[in-house]
Amino acid sequence: MKKVRKNKLNDFKKELLEIRKKLAGEVEKSRDYSHEEAEGDMSDITDDAVRTYSQQIILQLGEREREQIKEIDEALERIDNGEYGICVECGEEIPEKRLNLIPYAKWCITCKEKIEVRNKL
Ligand SMILES: [Zn+2]
Repeated sequence: MKKVRKNKLNDFKKELLEIRKKLAGEVEKSRDYSHEEAEGDMSDITDDAVRTYSQQIILQLGEREREQIKEIDEALERIDNGEYGICVECGEEIPEKRLNLIPYAKWCITCKEKIEVRNKL
């Protein structure tokens, strides 16, 4: 089975992180006061605090955005596991064209259509 090329993988990773940042950033922007808070002395904030902070941001996202971030996180995990670009349903390779459109896609088109039909029932 052909796997996504390594340098391409890094591109997808970068893109996934970008989308994730943008999604979280939308919430940041919608809260005016958050800027002043964030510009405080960040060096005092521990990793845990940062993690809690971003979890709070995620909680304020809409369901759709949260779902998307979850899928992005899962995709990033699959990149680390070397399973990126493989359909989680049938194990077939997801076409790179599809990954270019939706870098966090976890299903091939056939499975996605099947699952969408199933969800509509
Ligand atoms: Zn599939």
